[in-house]
Amino acid sequence: MAKRDNHCSFCGRSRDEVTVLIAGIDGHICESCTDQAYQIVVEEVKSKGTGGFDFSLRDNFKPKEIKGFMDQYVIGQIEAKKTLSVAVYNHYKRLNQQSQNDVEIEKSNILLVGETGTGKTLMAKTIAKYLNVPFAIVDATVFTEAGYVGEDVESMLSRLLQACDYNIEAAEKGIVYIDEIDKIARKSDNPSITRDVSGEGVQQALLKMLEGTEVNVPPQGGRKHPEQKMIKVNTENILFICGGAFAGIDEVIARRTQQQAIGFRTQDEVAVDKENLLQYINHQDIRKFGLIPELLGRMPVLTHLNPLTADTLRLILTQPKNALTKQYEKLFDMEGIAIQFTDGMLDYVVEKAIELKLGARGLRSICEAIMNDAMYEMPSAEEKVTEWVVTEEYAREKFEGSKLNKLKVA
Ligand code: ADP
Repeated sequence: MAKRDNHCSFCGRSRDEVTVLIAGIDGHICESCTDQAYQIVVEEVKSKGTGGFDFSLRDNFKPKEIKGFMDQYVIGQIEAKKTLSVAVYNHYKRLNQQSQNDVEIEKSNILLVGETGTGKTLMAKTIAKYLNVPFAIVDATVFTEAGYVGEDVESMLSRLLQACDYNIEAAEKGIVYIDEIDKIARKSDNPSITRDVSGEGVQQALLKMLEGTEVNVPPQGGRKHPEQKMIKVNTENILFICGGAFAGIDEVIARRTQQQAIGFRTQDEVAVDKENLLQYINHQDIRKFGLIPELLGRMPVLTHLNPLTADTLRLILTQPKNALTKQYEKLFDMEGIAIQFTDGMLDYVVEKAIELKLGARGLRSICEAIMNDAMYEMPSAEEKVTEWVVTEEYAREKFEGSKLNKLKVA
């Protein structure tokens, strides 16, 4: 090619049209082309390698191992843990699938249904910890249909990119937990009634993402702006775990199970457990609740979480690897104080959590209300104590004097 002096060899613009024209041995480059070239280099470097994440199947990577790991952090919820373990295991088999012409394993995005505070987020977080993959938690309520106030659905991938320092290859094999998916349910059974900005439109946008497609992601999240440079992310291998409380869905399930009971119940069929109807949930119920069938089709794995009983709450206080009591023991141990909680004290905390209807989340705030004074006083106490037993009486006195106590539900 003939050399054109005084022209950028990349975009062809002449010296008059640019601010800077750098001369090379056999050509020139202008300032906007150097800028573009720099961006390309940065992206290429970022997308190379897996940024410390390991996507290979480990020797002991089996559903039972995954559940065993979750058992250390999540109390109860056996069915959900098993279902999740299998789904994640299959997801990784799919990622490591060798032959392209073979039977193609489809992606199994997961839908977790359970009351708030029963451990949905905890479960998704624990899985990500075990797998060592990029993980992001997003809230479905912030998304709106493109063109309305709110965030574009694509911005959830910005969080994932941020979680792995913009390593695109790593992000493309990550996990996204979408919380409050029930909040984007269609408000009405009639899809054409009015525009449903935060409902069906968002579901449609989400559908594309769950299906597996190339998405233009705004690097900093939020809204897509035409002038903003987008990052292309392929969602084909991203595992989406969606969670929601689906308040009121038990009525849908009750209606269905009643109808079935009238129609088909045989003598030896087990009676429906009315206390925990969520255990019978199926895709049809979720559809009735207002999620579009296409989206549901992309979440083939559906499982439920059980409501937390007093016994479960009691275990949550003491059993998990990072249980609250263990955390306090550690904190006091660092002050040189060995603390113990009496059974009565622990039962009292559980009783209050149930009374205040705060679920497992409440355990923490109740414990804080009880322990805060001691954590304030003890480090600077003149007479150092080396042991302390936290009793029910102490807990009662502190809790009753706290603001939390005023929260009591009528
Ligand atoms: P959800 O996402 O279902 O609303 P989270 O997973 O955020 O609930 O749970 C809130 C907190 O309650 C967690 O951080 C955890 O400490 C505790 N928790 C809830 N369920 C369990 C459980 N089954 N086992 C252990 N801890 C739990």
